[in-house]
Amino acid sequence: MSIQIINKDEKNCPFIVCDHCKLEIFKAEEANAIWLGDPRREEGFRFDVGHVHKECDQPFQNAHPAPAGSQWFWNGLEHHLYMLLKNVEYDAQRAANTKRIVDNLG
Ligand SMILES: [Zn+2]
Repeated sequence: MSIQIINKDEKNCPFIVCDHCKLEIFKAEEANAIWLGDPRREEGFRFDVGHVHKECDQPFQNAHPAPAGSQWFWNGLEHHLYMLLKNVEYDAQRAANTKRIVDNLG
């Protein structure tokens, strides 16, 4: 995952960064999670995930062609993040506490 801490207004801010243009992704709906996968979907295989703006997806794939026997898979970032948080049992109700803390930081 392309997460970077970017200093903004003297704060350390986490952002997902596009693996193609290297700019921050500000809207999940405008980006994809992508990975080189095994089309046979064998159980237990693991793949690193990248993130790209939707307009950067095809240029990224053109610059990084899938090797023989694999192919690029993708998922809308908004869906990918939901599934990712579900897999770490992220509690959206408790997130309200974090939101209050972060909002108070300014
Ligand atoms: Zn991009």
